[in-house]
Amino acid sequence: MMIDLKTALSHYFGHDEFRPLQEEIIRTALTGRDQLAVLPTGAGKSLCYQLPALLLNGCTLVVSPLIALMKDQIIALEERGIPSATLNSTLTPKRRDEVISHLLMGHLKLLYVAPETLLSPLGQDLLQRATISMVAIDEAHCISQWGHDFRPEYSQLGIIKELHPHIPMIALTATADEATRQDIVTKLKLSSPKLIIGDFDRPNLYLEVRRGYKKADKLIAIKQYINDHDNSCGIIYCNKRSETESLAKELNKMGIKALPYHATMSVKDREVVHRAFSSGQVEAICATIAFGMGIDKADIRWVIHYNMPKNVEGYYQEIGRAGRDGAPADTLLFYSYTDIFVVEKLISESGQHDLVRQKMEYMKRYCEADICRRKILLGYFGYPRHENCNNCDVCLNPSPKTFDGVIIAQKAMSAIIRTHEQININMTIDILRGSKKYELLDLKYHHLPTYGVGQDLSNLQWREYIYQMIQNGLLKMDYMNGYTLKVTPLGHEVLRGKAPFRLIPLSIKK
Ligand code: ADP
Ligand code: MG
Ligand code: ZN
Repeated sequence: MMIDLKTALSHYFGHDEFRPLQEEIIRTALTGRDQLAVLPTGAGKSLCYQLPALLLNGCTLVVSPLIALMKDQIIALEERGIPSATLNSTLTPKRRDEVISHLLMGHLKLLYVAPETLLSPLGQDLLQRATISMVAIDEAHCISQWGHDFRPEYSQLGIIKELHPHIPMIALTATADEATRQDIVTKLKLSSPKLIIGDFDRPNLYLEVRRGYKKADKLIAIKQYINDHDNSCGIIYCNKRSETESLAKELNKMGIKALPYHATMSVKDREVVHRAFSSGQVEAICATIAFGMGIDKADIRWVIHYNMPKNVEGYYQEIGRAGRDGAPADTLLFYSYTDIFVVEKLISESGQHDLVRQKMEYMKRYCEADICRRKILLGYFGYPRHENCNNCDVCLNPSPKTFDGVIIAQKAMSAIIRTHEQININMTIDILRGSKKYELLDLKYHHLPTYGVGQDLSNLQWREYIYQMIQNGLLKMDYMNGYTLKVTPLGHEVLRGKAPFRLIPLSIKK
């Protein structure tokens, strides 16, 4: 189908050019193939289902988690004269019947539905009776318990594909690491979906972590930070609701205009905060992660994390709200050991999954990093980066004390390869250090040539260096398969002596 998509783009939306990957996603949608698109916030994901919706026969259903988000989208579509509507629990019965009859008469091109509405008997009935061209699942990471914003309403959406395998589905999200991506595909029951992943690098964001600040130190630092940013407005993310309120109070006392924001506030209060933020009347919003989805403010100049977040996915999403206009923006994370205990407690209280813990572990690694933080972030999302970014605190204050790590890396990788990449960190270390553990002997790993070649290093050193190999993109951890380690193409280069690799020695403090 060689439709002139650019003409359609300018006709319906008034844009001259597609943004990266939009055209590919739209063309795929037009062929009816399922897909999962992971594109950063602001990349223009809505257009990826809105434009095909206009070109396909029938109505596209859009599942979206927030009613406020749906409303914004409908207003924008109506301005462009595109027949669209929402279906959710806030409609009057009269309006609801109106929407349903429009849908059944084929007058709608886009219908935004709340997940619970789509899964209700009414929604199921409409799926049967109306001509549905496609189902788009926006903010698709909400389906995964391992993502950073699980919503139970999303968890049953797999039924749609089960009952209507012929209706193409597109899932979209701004942040999903590999485990979350796989989980989305499985839970939605997508059939051989095309996976489209955008470029995640946000070079304009300065990345900074400060360690060991106590509460009083943080307050002083935040005040200074806001002053340094010409009192432009930004977001301070806190892990706890109570903290958003107490922090806002403390900042007010220091003469900073700050407001708290969290999910248990009334809709009205939250709207007040949103408005104050959009119009630039406040300097700081002290918020839980509930604040952010759907914020369309392009000129946020800074984001602070008052504590260590639970995982890199959430963290990257949150700092990504700064500098969406492309101009420089700053991010600052306060990290302390007590954060780890707090997060660990939250994890175990939530009936933890091992994966959740692993994700936190990676976040901790990011905080403690002695190498370019952007390398670590992008490595996490599957984009090994070779050069330093020169826009993070580590790059700007490098610690010179690295040493040639090629031989150490080669030892670890050859152990991994000789066991067909079926071992996790612990077994790798056991092999290298020549452990006599029963499981190891049982698998005959003591016959490997790499058995015992790493006795010169301690268990702790090996663990640290293997983590650095992961951070640098030489190894990948397969979360879905017992955390086994896989050697990446970059790793193979180092193994063959074709690429350099430097390690940071394990310092005494650890
Ligand atoms: P996302 O959902 O990926 O965060 P949105 O779909 O909300 O992003 O789009 C962000 C902004 O980009 C919107 O204001 C939208 O109108 C604009 N936009 C999308 N595609 C284009 C394009 N091809 N050209 C210009 N602006 C675009
Ligand atoms: Mg969006
Ligand atoms: Zn850097």
